[in-house]
Amino acid sequence: MGIGKSKAKLVTDTGENRITFVDVAGIDEAKEELQEVVDFLKTPERFETLGGRIPRGILLVGAPGTGKTLLAKAVAGEADAPFFSISGSEFVEMFVGVGAARVRDLFAQASAKSPCIVFIDELDALGKARGYSPMGGYDEREQTLNQLLTEMDGFHTRKGVIIMGATNRPEILDPALLRPGRFDRQVVVDRPDLAGREGILKVHAKGVKLSASVDLRLIAQRTPGFVGADLANIVNKAALLAARREKTEVTRDEFSEAIDRVVAGLEKKKRLINPREKKIVAYHETGHAVVGHSLGSADEVQKISIVPRGIAALGYTIQLPTEDRYLFTKTELEQKLASLLGGRVAEEFFFNDVSTGSQNDLFKATDIARAMVKEYGMSSHMGLSSYGRPRNPFLKGDSYMPTEREYSEKLAGEIDEEVKLILEQAQATARKIIQEKSATVEAIDREEFLRLAEPEALPHTSEL
Ligand code: ADP
Ligand code: ZN
Repeated sequence: MGIGKSKAKLVTDTGENRITFVDVAGIDEAKEELQEVVDFLKTPERFETLGGRIPRGILLVGAPGTGKTLLAKAVAGEADAPFFSISGSEFVEMFVGVGAARVRDLFAQASAKSPCIVFIDELDALGKARGYSPMGGYDEREQTLNQLLTEMDGFHTRKGVIIMGATNRPEILDPALLRPGRFDRQVVVDRPDLAGREGILKVHAKGVKLSASVDLRLIAQRTPGFVGADLANIVNKAALLAARREKTEVTRDEFSEAIDRVVAGLEKKKRLINPREKKIVAYHETGHAVVGHSLGSADEVQKISIVPRGIAALGYTIQLPTEDRYLFTKTELEQKLASLLGGRVAEEFFFNDVSTGSQNDLFKATDIARAMVKEYGMSSHMGLSSYGRPRNPFLKGDSYMPTEREYSEKLAGEIDEEVKLILEQAQATARKIIQEKSATVEAIDREEFLRLAEPEALPHTSEL
């Protein structure tokens, strides 16, 4: 196999064996949103003659194991279309140019088989915002990413190739990936609720002989926060235990033991978030949304969700840019800053404490404020001088290039002061809004929280 050949696997399970929507349970909303893609794959001509908006790139966002890969496969299976699958990390190689060649090769293969689906798992490995890691391997990733963007833009020449990406860290993706015509549709793949978990258990218990003592509903109740992969794991472990014990059917005992083992594993991996964390995240995300929304011009809030991913950022708010923007006014940047700080401000206001969840927000906000002072002449104190080269990935996608400072120590100090001031002003704006709208935050939050929290995991109202 040539080095520039894509490592994508073509899944050719067709007919009886193929995965379809019946194999996917508990994430009905995401399934519904993807039905359109199935329709398109089945009859692309009909979409064209009707002039319907043809889907291009779809980003599946959700915690690991929620079934994003499964869902993408099922979309292909429903339409009986070819499915190419590759992980973002497989594009990132040590030799410059290889990743880009692989992307080209992948799209050439896919075009030959259209209509079809190209699934890129771990899109963030490839699509991290440019300039985020000044460490090695960086040129290569940027080239590969650019090639992917080029291929997606050349979509009209390869009708019928639908690209689905999956990530659990949407906030670190390069904004260029989310522009119209690229991954401009985001589908949230949530953790399943009680009924969803029962549904998933049923799917996986299909081929397993269960004793009458096993109540899947009860198991679903005992597993709040579990994702599809965890539940599949439980059924599998229980069946193995039963086989080892030479039982003729799987009983409640095996399930109890299987749950305990999976829980122990999850606790080690810290994949379960506790109700208190959930609550902080819910307020944090609602804070962003409320500040963004009341300032009007901020990007439209699409959906607030709580997706655990590591410790730095537990939830996120999807704010799709409503149009492709190249120019921002000072006022707009100030609004953007306020809504970025809205999360932290809400934590402060409702908990009298702050968490580590704002790390990424603070990073972005500082970057914008710095650019305002150093590059855009938007601070009256620092005037119109440009201080140093642009390096702001959030606004422009420029490369990070450590440059020598071309101004004095004294000026550097003043720039820092100005940046601080701008951030403090944005914080004050956010505080004022959160204070005024605290009832709204509580209401949204309560609703969101009730939706996400399971009855059994819901703390008593006195704790709320
Ligand atoms: P992700 O891509 O989100 O990390 P996967 O699709 O790889 O998750 O899920 C791993 C396995 O867990 C699947 O192959 C399937 O067996 C099971 N699984 C996950 N989610 C679901 C679901 N919603 N319904 C049924 N099975 C699921
Ligand atoms: Zn945030």
